[in-house]
Amino acid sequence: MKILVTGGAGYIGSHTCVELVQAGHDIVVVDNFVNSSMEAIRRVRKLCGTEFPFEEIDLTDGPATDRLLEKYPVDVVMHFAGLKAVGESVQIPIEYYRNNLGSTLSLLSAMKKHGVKNFVFSSSATVYGADAPVPYKEDSPVSRITSSPYGNTKLMIEYILKDTVRAVPGFNAALLRYFNPVGAHESGEIGEDPSGIPNNLMPYIAKVAVGKLDKIHIFGNDYDTPDGTCLRDYIHVVDLAKGHVAALKKLEENCGVFVCNLGTGKATSVLEMVKAFSAACGKDLPYDFAPRREGDLPETWADPTYARETLGWTAEKGIKEMCEDVWRWQSRNPNGYRD
Ligand code: NAD
Ligand code: UDP
Repeated sequence: MKILVTGGAGYIGSHTCVELVQAGHDIVVVDNFVNSSMEAIRRVRKLCGTEFPFEEIDLTDGPATDRLLEKYPVDVVMHFAGLKAVGESVQIPIEYYRNNLGSTLSLLSAMKKHGVKNFVFSSSATVYGADAPVPYKEDSPVSRITSSPYGNTKLMIEYILKDTVRAVPGFNAALLRYFNPVGAHESGEIGEDPSGIPNNLMPYIAKVAVGKLDKIHIFGNDYDTPDGTCLRDYIHVVDLAKGHVAALKKLEENCGVFVCNLGTGKATSVLEMVKAFSAACGKDLPYDFAPRREGDLPETWADPTYARETLGWTAEKGIKEMCEDVWRWQSRNPNGYRD
């Protein structure tokens, strides 16, 4: 298939480009580098062994997005582009709504004009209601409003896509709800490259391991969990990328709306993750216990049954590989793509 990958210079998009090309698809990539760099595209091209087309475009620019789909007649849009920092979204909600909703609406308008009918959306487990029991299933209740503007953009875009499927004959939308993507490509060439001090656990641990930060702060050790720290469903980014390749099958079947969790079904505590990374990098990483972080749920993990049954997809890589691959990426690229 011919696939437009938006946000393809970013963390998840770059890994998905590699898996799409390896699966025999043709890709066109777009990014505005608000949170990434051209070096990621160079490395993805190198890994793929092909000079796929790349366009630097801000997808909130409607006419530019329209010209993009005019130039490249694609079968599918895979929409990774978006702003994603939960805390930042609380500080600058307007920018988050403008960017995440605006880019999606530009794409949908251009798709309507050019007859493109398949959309894959990077949604998130954050759309599930705080009261939903774990593990989350696709029919678990979603929040009426999430705990952040970022999460609300995910929820709103899910509704926009559901309405589009209802209104546009033949339109299909795969809403893929990611759990906690971590890891890096096993080559060590591409990985997560946050700017500044990372907010998420895995990149923070990686920066401590490489000596860029002093110690890990574990947010809360008095939760009602086996070791008192929060439980999450960490999924290797390459498994996640393969989940996108698998989801193309549903679009070909004319699925209409397809909602699917992409997680492993396994829960790992913060403390377990710190220990696993210490083993991967061969040194005991320093940590302390800090107060709970506002808004954190004690435990979230996926029920991955539906993905297995409908896509024949199951995550294969465990915590050990996730940590080893991040360590390979981080130790070879201590400054990310900026070297
Ligand atoms: P990322 O920031 O690494 O990648 C997003 C890319 O989109 C970046 O390269 C950025 O430059 C680009 N971008 C942003 N706005 C743009 C615009 N207006 N026009 C063109 N390009 C634009 O983030 P990621 O971790 O790869 O996440 C990809 C998607 O998955 C996002 O939508 C994110 O919300 C979603 N998601 C991520 C996680 C996670 O933990 N990483 C979890 C759930 C969902
Ligand atoms: N966490 C932590 N220290 C950090 C960053 C995160 O203890 O520096 C914890 C956080 O409280 C949560 C888990 O690690 O329990 C995963 O957090 P992350 O931000 O990576 O993902 P989230 O599940 O919040 O989307």
